[in-house]
Amino acid sequence: MKIAVFIETHNAQGIRSAKEALTAARSLNAEIVGITTSNADALHQFAEYGLTTCITVSHDLLATYSSTAIASAVAQAAKSANANVVMFGGNASGKEIAPRVAVKLQAGYIPDVVEVQDANGALQCVRPVFAGKAREHVKATTTVTVVTLRPNVFTAKAVGGGAVTTSAFTPELTGNDAKVKTTGVTRNEGKLDVLEADIIVSGGRGMKGPEHFTLVEDLAKPLGAAVGASRAVVDAGWRPHGDQVGQTGKTVSPSLYVACGISGAVQHLAGMSSSKVIVAINKDKEAPIFKVADYGIIGDVFEVLPKLTAKIKEVTGK
Ligand SMILES: Cc1cc2nc3c(=O)[nH]c(=O)nc-3n(C[C@H](O)[C@H](O)[C@H](O)COP(=O)(O)OP(=O)(O)OC[C@H]3O[C@@H](n4cnc5c(N)ncnc54)[C@H](O)[C@@H]3O)c2cc1C
Repeated sequence: MKIAVFIETHNAQGIRSAKEALTAARSLNAEIVGITTSNADALHQFAEYGLTTCITVSHDLLATYSSTAIASAVAQAAKSANANVVMFGGNASGKEIAPRVAVKLQAGYIPDVVEVQDANGALQCVRPVFAGKAREHVKATTTVTVVTLRPNVFTAKAVGGGAVTTSAFTPELTGNDAKVKTTGVTRNEGKLDVLEADIIVSGGRGMKGPEHFTLVEDLAKPLGAAVGASRAVVDAGWRPHGDQVGQTGKTVSPSLYVACGISGAVQHLAGMSSSKVIVAINKDKEAPIFKVADYGIIGDVFEVLPKLTAKIKEVTGK
């Protein structure tokens, strides 16, 4: 098996989901090559996660972000490397580029993978289906398989690598490849996205109003956590859609998920039940969230959150 892993950086920082993809690829008996359209200067950050060779793809049409141009370029690079698996982290760009690469390579596409196995030299994947109620075992019947990995499932493991050998690749791109071009990005600077976060503190309708989310933010801050939300509060306009966790929001698997005033509807659980440790704070002891919680606090968020935040600040000194 030869696996091409899409290596992505943002502001010269290695993206975690790419490091997770390297870790997943390493768990298979495979030859691994990275493919990047990012600046090669940041590649050393991936050496630690097992990257030894990488194809650096460059072209004028890649100067501004275009998912269609990147997909064409990555597909050509993967083909030149004879890769039979192309692996992406399942972050926003991975989800946008990977299916396009699959079309270009006439490859089978398997999204949202949580487990990879080597089945006699072919890639076998496991992915949750029906809002996490079942796990599907899938294998592509095509020569090439393109997969995206669910973020935060494959914990990125450092192996202490050395140098990365690079080879330059110039794809054949025309204006037609850059059909969709990003003309500008408005970032929530300084805001940690739930998909990238190792700890998430989420609030639900039990927070009673947008003004009380300062309590959630106050707990998130000393923990270095991202703030998430249930759909009920996003629909109510209390939080932006980018914060929504669940079936129609983001799927997360952080080390720690703290659910504050969230009932634990099946659609919410679909997005967070694979978190490593779940803490639920809810005043209703029958709330379904307690069925998936490792630690439950039966209480009022308005009493519990300030006390918990004060204790965390005391312990972390932040
Ligand atoms: C097709 C579809 C897709 C959906 N996708 C999503 C999705 O992606 N994500 C998602 O979250 N939902 C999704 N939903 C909605 C989902 O069904 C629930 O309606 C939603 O998750 C409920 O949000 P909540 O837990 O914040 O609110 P509620 O269900 O109203 O729960 C509020 C909880 O807060 C507790 N509470 C109240 N006051 C306090 C207090 N003072 N202290 C402590 N606890 C308190 C209550 O006991 C209750 O358990 C989807 C629904 C459908 C039909």
